[in-house]
Amino acid sequence: IPQESLFPPFHSLRVIARFRPLNRLELSKGGKPCVAVTPDGKGVSIISRGEGKRDFQFDHVFQMTSTQAEVFDIVARPVVDDVLNGYNGSVLAYGQTSSGKTHTMMGPDIANEELRGITPRMVYRLFEGMNAAPETVEFTLKIQYVEIYMERIRDLLDPSNSNLEIHEDKARGVYIAGCSEVYVTQEQDIFQLLEQGGRNRVVAATGMNEGSSRSHSLFMLTVSQKDVVTLSQKSGRFYLVDLAGSEKIATTHAEGQRLEEAKKINLSLTCLGNVINALTDGKATHIPYRDSRLTRILQDSIGGNSRTTLIICASSSTTNDIETLSTMRFGARAK
Ligand code: ADP
Ligand code: MG
Repeated sequence: IPQESLFPPFHSLRVIARFRPLNRLELSKGGKPCVAVTPDGKGVSIISRGEGKRDFQFDHVFQMTSTQAEVFDIVARPVVDDVLNGYNGSVLAYGQTSSGKTHTMMGPDIANEELRGITPRMVYRLFEGMNAAPETVEFTLKIQYVEIYMERIRDLLDPSNSNLEIHEDKARGVYIAGCSEVYVTQEQDIFQLLEQGGRNRVVAATGMNEGSSRSHSLFMLTVSQKDVVTLSQKSGRFYLVDLAGSEKIATTHAEGQRLEEAKKINLSLTCLGNVINALTDGKATHIPYRDSRLTRILQDSIGGNSRTTLIICASSSTTNDIETLSTMRFGARAK
C-alpha cells in the first residue's frame, strides 16, 4: 500500500537540547547559570570555566522554563502521528546522570497531568488518534520493555529473561528473540506495564546520584492497523529510550563493577554517536549498527524511513560545565 510521506522537509533526525534548572546541590556549591539560549530557540552558548564561551546550534533548544507540555509538542507529538501513519520512530534521551532524562521521558508521576513526561503523553495522544480513526479500522497494540545492562538485554516484563539475543529475518526485521510482547487495549494497561517494568530495572548507586541507572531502558510500542473494509494494513512502532548516564568515569570515582559498567556504557554511547553520525553524514556506506546491542535493537527505528529525535539533557550549572559541554558536543556531532 503506497503511503504518502508525512515527514516535513527537515532531516528525519533531529537533535534537541533541554537544560534543567540548577538544583539545591549545585546552588550549595556556588553554581551559577552557564547557559544562554538564543532568541530563535535554535542556538545555545555555554559559558564554561575552562573554555570560556562555546556556541552550539540544534534543531531546537528549550528554555529552562519550558514545560513538559511544550517539550511533548515539539519532540513527540509528530512521532505519534507518524507511527499512526505506519512509520517507525524513536525518541532518545542522552545526558549525564541527574540531567533530566527520566524527567523528560517519563516525568515524576504518570498521574500528574502537568508534570508527566513524553511517554505517558504519547500514550494518551496515541489513543486520541486511534479514537479519531474511521470505525472500520482495527488497531492492535503491542508493548516490549527491555533494558541493556553491561551489554546484556534484560526483559523488564519478565525478569527471568535476562540475557536475550537479537535476531533478524525478512518478515520481522531486527527483533529481540524470546522477549515478552504484551498486547494492550487501553492506556492504563500500558501504564501498569511501565510501572511493573520500572520496578525491575537495575538501579545502582553511583558517586554522583544514588538511584541513578547504569542501564539503557528501551520501551517499544507497535501499532498495527487493518481496515476491515478495504483490507489495507499498516504498522508502525516507536522506541522511547532513556539512556544510561553519559558522565565520564573519573567524575564518579568508579572501580571494579562500576568501572566495568562505565566502560560498557561508554562503548554503547560511542556506538550510538557513530551510527547517528554515519546516518547524518549522507556519504557513509556503512552504518555500524552491529557494534552495540543498543544500536542493533534500534536498527529499524533510527535512520532509513524512520524519524529519530535525540534529546540532549544537561544541567545549566557552572559546576557541571564540563559534562554539559561534552553533552553538547555529542549532540553537535550527531547533526
Ligand atoms: P536523569 O534521569 O538524567 O538521571 P532525572 O530526570 O532523574 O535525571 O532528574 C534529576 C532531578 O532533577 C529529578 O529530581 C528531577 O525531578 C529534576 N529535574 C530534571 N529536569 C527537570 C526540569 N526540567 N525541571 C525541574 N526539575 C527537573
Ligand atoms: Mg534517570
